[in-house]
Parts: sequence; structure tokens; C-alpha cells
Amino acid sequence: MIRQYELVERVKATDPAADEDSINRAYVFSMKAHGTQKRASGDPYFSHPLEVAGILTELKLDGASIVTALLHDTIEDTLTTLDEIERLFGPTIAKLVDGVTKLSRLELQSDQTKQAENFRKLLLAMSEDIRVLLVKLADRLHNMRTLGYIADADKRRTVARETLEIYAPLAERIGMNAMKDELEDLAFDELYPEAQESIRARFEFLRQQGGDLVSRIVEALTTTLVTAGLEVEVSGREKRPYSIWRKMQRKHVTFEQLADVIAFRAVVTSEDDCYRALGVLHRAYRVVPGRFKDYVSTPKLNGYRSIHTVVVGPERQRVEVQVRTRKMHEEAELGVAAHWSFKQDSSAGVREGRQYRWIRELLDILEHALGPEEFLEHTKLEMYRDQVFCFTPKGDLIALPQGATPVDFAYAVHSGVGDTCVGAKINGRMMPLRTELGNGDQIEIVRSTVAAPSPTWENFVVTGKARTRIRRFVRSQEREQYLALGRGIAEKAFRAEGRDYSEKLIETALPKLKLKSIGELHVLLGRGDLTGKHLAEVVFPYRRLKDVVGNVLPLVRRRSRSVERGVPIKGLIAGMAVHYAECCHPLPGERIVGIVTTGKGVMVHTIDCDTLVDFQDDPERWLDLAWDAEVEADGELQGRLSLVISNEPGSLGAISTVIAENSGNISNLKITNRSADLFEMVIDVEVEDVRHLSNIVAALRATPVISSVERARM
Ligand code: MN
Repeated sequence: MIRQYELVERVKATDPAADEDSINRAYVFSMKAHGTQKRASGDPYFSHPLEVAGILTELKLDGASIVTALLHDTIEDTLTTLDEIERLFGPTIAKLVDGVTKLSRLELQSDQTKQAENFRKLLLAMSEDIRVLLVKLADRLHNMRTLGYIADADKRRTVARETLEIYAPLAERIGMNAMKDELEDLAFDELYPEAQESIRARFEFLRQQGGDLVSRIVEALTTTLVTAGLEVEVSGREKRPYSIWRKMQRKHVTFEQLADVIAFRAVVTSEDDCYRALGVLHRAYRVVPGRFKDYVSTPKLNGYRSIHTVVVGPERQRVEVQVRTRKMHEEAELGVAAHWSFKQDSSAGVREGRQYRWIRELLDILEHALGPEEFLEHTKLEMYRDQVFCFTPKGDLIALPQGATPVDFAYAVHSGVGDTCVGAKINGRMMPLRTELGNGDQIEIVRSTVAAPSPTWENFVVTGKARTRIRRFVRSQEREQYLALGRGIAEKAFRAEGRDYSEKLIETALPKLKLKSIGELHVLLGRGDLTGKHLAEVVFPYRRLKDVVGNVLPLVRRRSRSVERGVPIKGLIAGMAVHYAECCHPLPGERIVGIVTTGKGVMVHTIDCDTLVDFQDDPERWLDLAWDAEVEADGELQGRLSLVISNEPGSLGAISTVIAENSGNISNLKITNRSADLFEMVIDVEVEDVRHLSNIVAALRATPVISSVERARM
């Protein structure tokens, strides 16, 4: 065990400003709090927080991190409260200890690997202060170092798997490769002892076969580089069993097929020398193509820098050589922690190509922070600020955007859960559905037996999935209502015809309406896109003949446009073109007569049209015609009126208002005579039939500015 004064000395060596008194008090406090508790190894429990603090001094962390490490298990494992910690050690330490305690309470409850990435994000998001994460990683490292003392094999495996899936990648993400390597190796030993053993055995075999191969290569590489004038330190090491095993898995190759199981490292004094050393190596040895990587000009996202190359080395072996400076080496080993100790050096500053904002921000703070405390305090992990991570009751982790509510959560779990959601328990308490979720919240959705999403949810959900589902549900609910309403309308239409409601009859009429189902028809009726009257006309054409009219009328257009197909007129000769005379504008409801004209077919006139005088001598050209039924033309036919109105402001406006009020439409207007007092004019009005036109004439006659209105015959 590290002694108290030793610990203080180590901290003071890297953080001269560290609060010595605080470290001493934390040491004593933690020792007393854990009292006679024992580790699985039989050691006093206090040895654990002390070792964790020791690991953090190796990472050269500040006094506050060391104090936090000493206290990190007191809240969870002893009677100590957070208030007590705050009273004795201040708010900063209390916050850090609280952070570590929260992380420790989170356990990967599910075995599913797909959860691992979310879990790592959760840990990052919850580690508001990076020191929390560093203490947690050191805690895990010490627990892994002493894993063998735990008797329960299942528990050992769970901890090892969690380390491999969660903590080692986290260490890697913040650039702490030495910590990552050790965590991986310890977990690998536990999880895959046979694989680990066989790889070690292979190395042993190679060592015996090749004699002192590694040192011979180290010597040869050193000579080559030093001869070229470089100041260099070369070392060689067997690659770690876990990284070899992973490569074998990934590339599906055997140990023998792996080219470089030994890695050599050349540490030089400057960045320029990295490239000079690379040049020397590439001239001296044959380069293995496709294996060169320059992480110096383009660092990895976690800040790692080095040049990697593979050459056919001095012993005819393929060897990988990593070239880096001393500083790059320390950064690669310690990651974020190294930035802390190199903070005075501006060359560790912002580099292009870094994509993770949080690293850039980290380095920004690094450059501008006044002291080490400020640096660490402001080093918030910004990477997952826009997300929250919540648990299901079973422990599955759901990632949601910031601002998400229990409704978003419910839909993220399953759309069926969202549709039947009526309430939510957040960390065991019933909370409103619009509550914003926080990191680490456990959500239990209270469900009803029937689906009942509320349209108001749309106002507060933030996920697209929730919004889409809610809209879909609201639409389908509206459809249900229209459907019921539409059926009522259809039934009423049948009653109006004195018939019993029959869906069979409606089905035969569906093609005429270009509809596919009765449901579709009901929805149209319910929405008002189709009237019950229209339905009756289609279903009972022999009664009303209105469907015929409906089909034809669009063709019976204004003026004497010829009508190709059936017209609503009885008494025509089949195949003869029909025109409506412009002189009298015959309207449905008026008595009509047809005059056969050479080359033009039949011209339809009103019976009282003046022009008929011209045909008095040719009775053979007359056709007795009649309108086929009562026609509703929707303003497709025109009546012509001649008016005399007072010449005063607003007269024309009054006319158009009266006509519009009576559902007519002025399609043409011509002033034929104009005096100081009066206007004479002719207007064409689109009307449904002669009765419609008569109504308009009556209304116009009742209008004060109008002197006279007559049906125009010209
Ligand atoms: Mn611990």
C-alpha cells in the first residue's frame, strides 16, 4: 500500500498547487469510513481507494482527482452522506464524488452488445467533469487487476465483458491507450483464457526458434538510424495477445498468417525527425506496400499521433515500425491525462483534421486555461450534449434527442407502446407525459388496453417516429368518424328514395364513381366530398336519369358548341350534331324546337325565338324537341338579359352583387347605349335552367338602380 506521505509527494510533484491538507484529511476519512471492511482478496477495503488514487498519480492528475479517488466508494459502501463530503471537502469534491457514485450505480444490465455503444455514450454524457470519468476508469482498472480474487466465475466474466465492451473503448476514446491496453489484456485473460494461452505459447515457440530475434532487429534498426545522424531510441515488443486475437478474428487468419506480431518503436526528438527516420527506413529496407499510415499530419480522432510503416526488416522478417516523438509517445499512452501534463506546450494545441468538437474544445481550454484546476474544471465532455440516455425497466438503454419526453421514449421502445401510453413513471414516480427526460432516468410507461394517442402530444414530442405515429393515429381516427357519418348519409339518401339501404346496390354503382370500396364512399360522404343526392342519382339512374345529365352537361357548353355524344334532349335524330342558338340561348325548362341546318346539324331555339320566322316556309326542317329531364347544369348554360340601369356610382356593383347572391355568374357584359342618366347593356349569365334565370330576373327587377330587365332575344 502507498503510504500517506508518499501519495502527497507524488501529487505535489505534478500539481504543486494541490491542497495537501485536503488529501491528508481524505486519506484519514476514507480509512476510517471503510473501517474493517475487507476486499475479496482479504486486504482492508481502504487499499482499493488508495490504489485508485495511486493510479491517478501515475496519470499525473491534480489534487482534487486524488481526493475524489480516496473518497469514491464512501457514499455507496459506507454510512457517509454527500452532505458530509461537501461540508468537509467543499462543493467541487462533493460534485466529483457524486459523479463517480452515479457512474458506479449504472451497470450494464443487459448482455446485448448493441447496448454497449449507448452505454458508453451515457457514461460520457454523465461525466460532466472529465475527472469523474478518469477516476471511474482508474477504479475499474484496479478492480480488474484484482479480479482473480472474486470467487464467483459468472461475476468475473460479467465484469470482464463490461470492461471489454464499455470501459476499454472509453479509455481509447479519450486517447488513454496504456489504460485501454491493460484493461483489454486483463479482460481477455478472464474471458478467453485458452486463446490467450495459445498465443502466448506461439510467442514462446518463436522466441526459442529465432533466438534473440527481437534484440537483433532492435540493434540493426538502431544502427541504421543512428548512422543516418538521428538521435533515436528503438524498442521492440511482442504485440499484445488481445490485439493479435482480435486481428485473427477480424481477418479470419491464423497466427502464422499474421505478418507482424512484433512491433518496433522508434522514438525521436522532433516531428521533422519522424519523417527523416521514415525516409531512412524506407531507403534501407523494402517497404511493404499499403501499410504506411501517417497519423502525425492527420491524427486519429482521439488525438493519437505516430507514423506507422511495415518493412521487410534486417532479418528478412516483415516488421512494423512506429515512429514518434517522446511527446507523441506520452500523449499516446496517457491521452487526455497527457494533455493535462503538457498544457504549457502550445504545440499540443489545435490541429486541423480533428473532427470531434469536444477534443477541440478540450484543447482550446488547454491553451487558454490559467491553471491546471481551471483546465480540468472546464473540461466538460461535450460530445453527447445533444442526447439523453434512458433505461427501460428491464435495463435496456434508449438514446433520445435532448428534450425528449416519455411519449418519445414509449414510441422509441415500440410503436404499440407509444399508441397505448397513458402515463409514465420516471424513476418510480408518476410524472406528466410532457416531462423532459434526463440522463440515466428509468422510465416505466403506463399503458391502457386501447390505443389512444392524443393529438396534443404532437406539441411536445421531439422524435420523428413519435410525431409520425401520432399523426397517423389521429388521421385514422378522423377516418373512423367520417366513415360512421358517411354511412348515415348514405342510409338517409336511400330513405329519401323510398328504398332500403343496400350495400349490394352501392357496390354495383362504385365503378361509376371510380371508387374501390364502400368504406371509401362513406368517407367521401362523411367529409362532404360527395353528396347523398349524387349517390342516389348514381344508384337509381332509371328513376332520375340524373347520372346521364351529370355525364353530359359538361359537354353542353355555352354558345353553340356542338355536342358529340348524348344530349339531354328528346326527339333528336341519332348521330346528328346539336348546337344551341346564340340568338335565344335556350335553357333547360324552356320549350324548345330544333331546326335542321345543312352541314351544321340541329340548331336548338326557344319556341318564341324571333329567328324562327325565317324557317316558317320549311316545316320539314323543324324537329319537335323537349328537354330530357329537369337539368341541373351548374352554370354550364347561359341566359342573355338586356338591362337598363341608372348611370350612377355603384350601379354595376349592385347588379353583380344581386346576380352572385342568386348563384348566377356573369360571363359577358356589353354596354350597348349610354346617356347621361341611363345605361343600356346586355349581360350573359351562367345559370342552371330557365327557372334559375327567372329568379335572377325577379331579383334584378327588385333592385332600385335597375329600370328594366328583359330576356334578350337577339
Ligand atoms: Mn471503487
